[in-house]
Amino acid sequence: MNGGIQECGLQAKLDQTIRLLDQAQDQFAPDIVFACSFGAEDVVLIDLISRQAPSIRIVTLDTGRLPQATYDVMDACRKRYGVDIDVYFPDAGEVEQMVRKHGLNLFYHSVENRKRCCEVRKIHPLRRALAGKKAWITGLRREQADSRQAMAAIENDGHFGIKKFNPLIEWSQDDVWAYIREHDVPYNALHDQHYPSIGCEPCTRAITVGEDIRAGRWWWENEEGVAECGLHANPLKK
Ligand code: SF4
Repeated sequence: MNGGIQECGLQAKLDQTIRLLDQAQDQFAPDIVFACSFGAEDVVLIDLISRQAPSIRIVTLDTGRLPQATYDVMDACRKRYGVDIDVYFPDAGEVEQMVRKHGLNLFYHSVENRKRCCEVRKIHPLRRALAGKKAWITGLRREQADSRQAMAAIENDGHFGIKKFNPLIEWSQDDVWAYIREHDVPYNALHDQHYPSIGCEPCTRAITVGEDIRAGRWWWENEEGVAECGLHANPLKK
């Protein structure tokens, strides 16, 4: 989290990220979106996209269960960069049906219910956000999880049938924070309270020293593997 961009050797990775964003914009705009959840990686990408590739639209999913700090950083980015952010909500009828049948806190009751909730609140809205698009951009980094080791900077996303760009794939956590500090990028206040990975409020907790950076996501599911919600077509916990 310290050292400038030059000092920590980030410049080469940054150049590569900018090349990837240029390529994504040239090849696919206007049929490409950046799916942003306003974590540390995502605010770096908003900063870069607003300057380097402004034809790429920014979309986000409001699951209805986000922490206030996420709405705050969303507004801060809108104000700072003057960008439009297309917010996609879950289908109200689907949420009502799910909650009537399984309760508001269904995700704590079983893995199946947690997947059901992610499906209704995240996957279906993401499908709408990507409908008719030819490519999307994510803030995924390889070191975030074992399930992300094999990911490449540009992939064919079999799940959604479009191209997927991961322009921060080679960045470390220190790289991300060096960039945020250097460019004074607005970031989610929960990161200062030991939340390296931030999702829905009831499904995210702070981590302690020595824990995996995604240990605070769906922590009650005491199974092997690091948690994924299904947005990135990798298996959920084994
Ligand atoms: S992260 Fe939790 S609250 Fe959010 S959609 Fe998934 S199960 Fe539901």
